[in-house]
Amino acid sequence: MNAVKVRNNQTQEVSEIPVGGFFVAIGHQPNSDIFKDFLDMDETGYIQTIPGTSKTNIAGVFAAGDVQDKIYRQAVTAAGSGCMAALDAERYLGEKGL
Ligand SMILES: Cc1cc2nc3c(=O)[nH]c(=O)nc-3n(C[C@H](O)[C@H](O)[C@H](O)COP(=O)(O)OP(=O)(O)OC[C@H]3O[C@@H](n4cnc5c(N)ncnc54)[C@H](O)[C@@H]3O)c2cc1C
Repeated sequence: MNAVKVRNNQTQEVSEIPVGGFFVAIGHQPNSDIFKDFLDMDETGYIQTIPGTSKTNIAGVFAAGDVQDKIYRQAVTAAGSGCMAALDAERYLGEKGL
């Protein structure tokens, strides 16, 4: 690795920057647009859940993982909140007698 080629997406100008290392920063924007007309979100697109639960503003809709966590965003916390959402969903269905 000795350089990166970059394109300015405003001017389309391509230039080369000499570097000795390169770190890709991805995964910082939640892919939640399809829910924006239904679910409460913060200004950056993270789905808001009732603290301590996976419940959203719509009964029976639960959110888990990075899409509702702008603080930790780790595999293990995502898995843990997935477990919470599964239990919340199971209890929701149980309360409905389903
Ligand atoms: C570069 C990088 C390095 C990381 N390193 C670590 C690490 O070392 N340790 C660690 O614990 N965590 C790490 N993480 C974080 C970890 O990857 C995430 O916290 C974890 O993957 C979140 O799990 P998730 O299921 O919430 O979301 P994701 O793993 O992002 O899963 C979401 C899934 O939903 C799918 N999807 C999105 N939109 C739609 C749609 N409209 N319809 C259907 N499917 C859809 C996506 O394709 C994806 O499969 C890293 C993340 C990144 C980006």
